Amino acid sequence: MIRDSFGYYHLSGCIHMHTTDSDGASSHSEVAAFANEVGLDYIMFTDHMTLKSRQSAERFYNDLLVVVGYEHNDPADQNHYLLFGASEVYDENLTPQEYIDKGVADNAVGFLAHPDEVRSRDGEYPPYPWTDWPVERFTGIEIWNQMSEWMEKLASAGPLGKAQLLFSPRKFMTSPPATTLKRWDELNLSRKTVGIVGVDAHAHKHKLGPKTITIFPYKVHFRSLQTHVILTEQLSRDYPTARGQLLEALRDARVYVSNRRWGAAGGFIFRAVRGSETAICGGSISSPEGCYLEVALPRAGEIRLFHNGANILTTRSKNLSFSPSSSGVYRVEVYQGPKGWIFSNHIRIGV
Ligand SMILES: [Zn+2]
Ligand SMILES: [Zn+2]
Repeated sequence: MIRDSFGYYHLSGCIHMHTTDSDGASSHSEVAAFANEVGLDYIMFTDHMTLKSRQSAERFYNDLLVVVGYEHNDPADQNHYLLFGASEVYDENLTPQEYIDKGVADNAVGFLAHPDEVRSRDGEYPPYPWTDWPVERFTGIEIWNQMSEWMEKLASAGPLGKAQLLFSPRKFMTSPPATTLKRWDELNLSRKTVGIVGVDAHAHKHKLGPKTITIFPYKVHFRSLQTHVILTEQLSRDYPTARGQLLEALRDARVYVSNRRWGAAGGFIFRAVRGSETAICGGSISSPEGCYLEVALPRAGEIRLFHNGANILTTRSKNLSFSPSSSGVYRVEVYQGPKGWIFSNHIRIGV
């Protein structure tokens, strides 16, 4: 946990992972031990259609906060939805809007998983995109899913490319799909829609000639796509309180995401100030008049500022200050060379 100069607490963690309860390779406590070795503050499990280990696995493992949700799918195994705080695993015959609304009734937090997953070539692993548009009332979406990007790259790679992807899986991640970012910006024009990243860890074994290698071991995942949440108070040591703090920060979009491969992003600042009003990611300011936006990075990068989905400013720096001239939703992307490093959630100004 990092405390920034404005007194906010930043937790770095990973969301969306599978265990032996569904199609993953390790148990909850084994995965928690990997997360502790990497130094994460929290992890959120999402086995397919089961919450059977919730009672035993939801707790602190040293300083690591562990939350057990699940990944719901429709009867055709499409429209995967990550649910945290659901009272139970919902009926498998529900439609996507019905399981979203079940989550709303339970005050759960829910994210459309890998919404724009594609495979340019048919193969062993089909894509699982979100197909049931339009839907309403979901908390947010995965703007970037590690396995989605990796599998699509694998599907279109030649033999050498395949070997590189197997041995250096993090290096080839570029950035969230443009279609998903566009969709996310459009959703935010009408209502706050939270953006997170999913590692979608399974740690599957793969046979390569005489050797068996693990695709994306959990620890490798944990050093790549991280979801950072911002708390207004220090994380409680009381488990139910801490879990509530994490879920509320996600619900509020006090969130930015990063690829850890290009540097630790914890402590990233994106805020708006107008007189006595201040807003961080997920927050809002009443009017653009007299307002300024501030960005501060742990290290210099290419900062791209977006207004209502349009890139209005690009600069290479460690800091940025900008006076917005119009109302709308603003967010920031940061690149290291061609690779996406940090993506903020939106700040709403005058909307
Ligand atoms: Zn899925
Ligand atoms: Zn999954």
